[in-house]
Amino acid sequence: MSALETSPLKILLIEDNPGDARLIREMLLEASGAACVLESVACLSAGLQRLAEDTFDVVLLDLSLPDAAGLRTFERVNACRPDLPIIVLTGLDDESVAVGAVQAGAQDYLLKGHVDPHELRLAMRYAIERKRLEADRNQMLARERIARAEAERLAAERAAVVAAQRELERQKDEFVANVSHDLRTPVAAIKASIGVILANEPPAVSEPLHRLFTNIDRAADEMARLVDDLLELARLRAGRVQLRPVVCDLRELAERSAHVIATLAETRAQTVEVDVPDEPVHALADSERLSRALTNLLSNAHKYGRVGGTIRVLVRRSADDVRLGVADDGPGIAEHDQAHIFDRFYRSETEATRRNLGSGLGLPIARAMVELHGGRIWVESALGRGTTFWIALPAARSLATVAGKERAP
Ligand code: ADP
Repeated sequence: MSALETSPLKILLIEDNPGDARLIREMLLEASGAACVLESVACLSAGLQRLAEDTFDVVLLDLSLPDAAGLRTFERVNACRPDLPIIVLTGLDDESVAVGAVQAGAQDYLLKGHVDPHELRLAMRYAIERKRLEADRNQMLARERIARAEAERLAAERAAVVAAQRELERQKDEFVANVSHDLRTPVAAIKASIGVILANEPPAVSEPLHRLFTNIDRAADEMARLVDDLLELARLRAGRVQLRPVVCDLRELAERSAHVIATLAETRAQTVEVDVPDEPVHALADSERLSRALTNLLSNAHKYGRVGGTIRVLVRRSADDVRLGVADDGPGIAEHDQAHIFDRFYRSETEATRRNLGSGLGLPIARAMVELHGGRIWVESALGRGTTFWIALPAARSLATVAGKERAP
């Protein structure tokens, strides 16, 4: 419901011609009766003063006043109260000025002597409605502007945080790479020295001392592996690993990796099975690097799988990709750990993890390798229900699509 229909409408008439002013008053009385309150002034300065002092719903404005004329009259009233709807009153002879006022923001114009009470009432009602809609729209636009500015500010803030995080990661990577690089030589020296000691151990060396020597030898191997992993991951993260992709049959890769892990599996009485389709499953891959990813998964299945359990190496072809899987029937991985196991250095707090040496780098390396191949890696697991890791790679659909690429040996 508009203001016109709810409370008496307050109208300010700025009109210097007493006859015209009277006519307007009579028309308003006829059209709206008690539904409106009209106040009239005869010059612009008085009008501006009343507008500053009081509130009105609409202004009826004659453009030719003793102290102002033409479009300027409208501009000054509008500048004083830009929120108020203004209807310009004009004679036939200066209708063009009235049109100019409408173009400058007046809600409407009425030709003096050519308006009836009903038209006057409607003109005011529409003017008020239009102004209200205009105000609503302006408010909405302002809100949108604020929201957009806020979104831009947040995006800039986010980008700054991401850039800072990236820089921190880069510095961390660089630090890890430098330290690992520097560790390589002393670790190799320890390994070589203990090798010489073990090879030349006199028969008189006591059993406890011999055990210490073998511990050093094992620890040197472990350190060498860790340093290798750190360097490999640093290279992968810095984009310094260059793949040499060839078309390879994932079944062969699966068989080879299963063979490598089989001897190790025996130490925990585990059986290794290979489950592959009859037809070749081709992928474009650097088979050495992909084997490394697969071996990491198999080594985990061996370490964390149960004694006497079964490790399965799977090869599958789906509609869009080809897949390698490693499944075990071990303790499984809790859901909250699944979200982190591909993070660097993350190891879940489990009995199996405590029992096994590890650095938390096997899965991050596998993931980086797979992603370098344009593939993805994920885990499907539940506590007590075993674990399956999957690697999906884009399929080399036909050898024609990879023409020119070398075939795997
Ligand atoms: P690491 O084996 O050196 O700890 P990884 O990055 O290879 O590092 O694995 C991260 C963690 O994921 C492991 O510490 C282990 O808790 C969990 N995990 C990986 N594979 C398995 C699996 N097959 N079964 C149960 N837990 C696993």
